[in-house]
Amino acid sequence: MEKDEIIRLLELFRYKENDRPGLNNYLDVTWNSNKYVATTTPHHFIIIKKSIYEFTPSGFLNLSAHIPSPNCEVEISVNEIINKVSQIRLVEVEQECECSYCSGTGEVKEGFYSSYCRNCDGYGFVGNGQYETIIDEEVRIKIRDSLFNNGFIAKLLEVCQATNSKNIFLIHQKDERVNLFKINNEILIGIMPMRPAKDEEFVTIDLKNPASA
Ligand SMILES: [Zn+2]
Repeated sequence: MEKDEIIRLLELFRYKENDRPGLNNYLDVTWNSNKYVATTTPHHFIIIKKSIYEFTPSGFLNLSAHIPSPNCEVEISVNEIINKVSQIRLVEVEQECECSYCSGTGEVKEGFYSSYCRNCDGYGFVGNGQYETIIDEEVRIKIRDSLFNNGFIAKLLEVCQATNSKNIFLIHQKDERVNLFKINNEILIGIMPMRPAKDEEFVTIDLKNPASA
């Protein structure tokens, strides 16, 4: 992979808000005696072997401590994931823009006090009348025992496509903690599952070796 492509993948998983500066950086990770470069958010991470690209880390968060040891080896076809994602219904959602009454703050000054903005109900954003078609984000994706946000699985697919991977492996899954996926023996992706809710809608990914799962 080219350097630009590796950076693109790292950026997909890097935290970009300002409230947790420790998560904004490229991180050093040691896992199974190998050196990796990583980016993370509170919900997912990517770690890429340094044999592909030597990267100087800029942060000191000890992500290594949060990466679990393998406890399974479940093979999953990338085409199966693409096929199931394509079955999720599409929905039209209105695009949003900043509320012009409160400049996106959700509050308006009334004399000495401020009160919530009635134009946007205190949300700060309003619909702009333009619609886009997206996969319904309420529909989960089930892999073995875990349910995932489909946007996170879309990122996993982007990494599969960037590495031309036909199959990936789920190598850790336990309780409702982070699931670990191995791609090409060079990249690991961790994704937090959703807490299952009642009557939740989901599509199920068929596993290639369910007997050994
Ligand atoms: Zn407003």
